[in-house]
Amino acid sequence: MEQLRVKKLASKRIRQGYPMLEPLDFIKPLSAKEGALVEIVDEKSQFLAKAYIGSENKAVGWVLTRKEDEAIDKAFFSRLFEKAREKRVSFEADATTTAYRFFNGEGDGLGGLTIERYENYYVFSWYSEGIYAHRQMIYEAFEETMTNPAGIYEKLRFKTSQERSRFVSGKQAPEPLIVMENGIRFAVYLDDGLMTGIFLDQRNVRGRLMEEYAAGKTVLNTFSYTGAFSVAAAMGGAAHTTSVDLANRSLERTREQFEVNELSPDDHTIRVMDVFNYFNYAKRHELTFDVVVVDPPTFARSKKRTFSVEKDYVSLLEDIIDVTAPGGLMVVSTNSRKVTREEFAGFVEEAFDNKGQSYSIVEEHRAPEDFTIHPAVPSSDYLKVFFVQKED
Ligand code: SAH
Repeated sequence: MEQLRVKKLASKRIRQGYPMLEPLDFIKPLSAKEGALVEIVDEKSQFLAKAYIGSENKAVGWVLTRKEDEAIDKAFFSRLFEKAREKRVSFEADATTTAYRFFNGEGDGLGGLTIERYENYYVFSWYSEGIYAHRQMIYEAFEETMTNPAGIYEKLRFKTSQERSRFVSGKQAPEPLIVMENGIRFAVYLDDGLMTGIFLDQRNVRGRLMEEYAAGKTVLNTFSYTGAFSVAAAMGGAAHTTSVDLANRSLERTREQFEVNELSPDDHTIRVMDVFNYFNYAKRHELTFDVVVVDPPTFARSKKRTFSVEKDYVSLLEDIIDVTAPGGLMVVSTNSRKVTREEFAGFVEEAFDNKGQSYSIVEEHRAPEDFTIHPAVPSSDYLKVFFVQKED
C-alpha cells in the first residue's frame, strides 16, 4: 500500500477522528490515482489511517480505518453494513415507514457512498470515481449481509460519469414503486435521473406538518417538486393545498402523489410556474395562506433570475412573510452546507426585521436519525428547518 505523508495539523485532525482528506493535507502534492487504497502517515512516518483516494467537492479521499491491522476487504464493508442495519432496526420493524436512508456516508463509516432503502429495493449513490472503483467488492459485501434485497439501483454522482442512473441487480422495481412514510403513500421512480421523487430527510417535517399543523388550514407549498409536503398536509386534513414548481413534470407527479393516497388532485391547486411570479400573482390578488412551506434548491437558474440560498434567502423570506396570513405558520428549510443553523436563523430574523413584523420559532428540525451525522464533520448536519409563527 502506498504511503502518503500528511502535515501536522492534518495528523492531529485524523487522530481526533476527522475522516475527510483534503488537498492541502499532504506534504507532497497528491499523485495517487482515484480509487487507490493508501496508508496515511504523519511527518515521522507513524501510521495514522488507511484511506481511499476519491475526489468529491472538498474531499480528495476518506479514511477507512485507524486500525493498522484492519484489512480493507469484503469483510470490512460487511461489518459497516451490519452496523448500519443495527442502527436502523426500528425502521425495519415499522410498516408505516418503508423508505429511509440505510447508509449515510461518513456518518456510517464510509465517506462517498449513501444507500437509501425503498421497500426492499436499495439505491446506492456513488459520489466519486474512487469509491466507485470498489463497487464490486462493496456490492458483494452488501448482498452477503442483507437478507434478500429485491433489487439494487445506482446513481453516479461524480462529474466524469456520462450515465446518472442504472439498474444493477435483482429484479426491477415497479414504476412507480409505492413506499410508505408515516402512513402516507409516495410514488417513487428508482431509475429516473438522480432523484427518486421524495427527499427522505424531510420525513419528520412532513410528519409534524401532517399531525399538528395542517388540519383545516390553507397551505402553500413553494418549490414543491412532487408535492410531498402538499400531500402530507392534505393527509393531515388541510382545507386546500397549492403547490408551485417551475418544472413541467411536477404537475403529473404531484397529481399522482394525491391519487395514490386516494385524494382527488382536482380538490387542490398545482401550478407550474416560477415561485417569484407566483408571489406577484398572490399579492395582486391579496391571497394569503395559513401555512407556507419553503424548501428551495441551494441554487437555481430560471429564465429571468438566479437564486442562491446564501444571497437570496432573506428576500425570499420577505415574500413568504407577505403571503402568510397573520398568525400563520412558515415552514422554512435549507439543505445548504454553506449556511449554518445560526446563519439561517439570522436570515429569518433579518427578513422579519425588514418587514417590521415579529415572529416566534415554534419548532426546529434537523435531518432525521437515519441520516447519521459524523460528529467531526459539521457539514454532515446539513438540514435546517424552522417552524416560524408570524405574529398577528
Ligand atoms: N421541497 C421539495 C423539494 C424541492 S427540490 C420537497 O420537499 O420535495 C427543488 C425544486 O425547486 C425543483 O422541483 C425545481 O423544479 C424547483 N424550482 C427551482 N427554481 C424554481 C423557481 N424559481 N420557481 C419554482 N420552482 C423552482
